[in-house]
Amino acid sequence: MSVFDSEGVEVCFGPCWSCRRAFTFDAELVPSIPIDPMTNTPADVGEHAPGASFVRQPICRDCVGRANANRASAGRPLIDVLPNAYLDEP
Ligand SMILES: [Zn+2]
Repeated sequence: MSVFDSEGVEVCFGPCWSCRRAFTFDAELVPSIPIDPMTNTPADVGEHAPGASFVRQPICRDCVGRANANRASAGRPLIDVLPNAYLDEP
């Protein structure tokens, strides 16, 4: 679900794809990963049907932190978190 605040920002409240914890986020700024609705796995994990369409799903701050810790130790690029992506704290 989402509402627009007084500045026209689309404020969403919904579950993190990874941990299912509900959080509040800016729909345009939140880190998200493309998920295959048929398999419920990310685009870069597992097998997907040819032409599978992926739906971007939001990821909460804690999960991005964990993902980035893993990425850092694997030498992979980190997920960028844009300012104001998360709206549940100042
Ligand atoms: Zn999460």
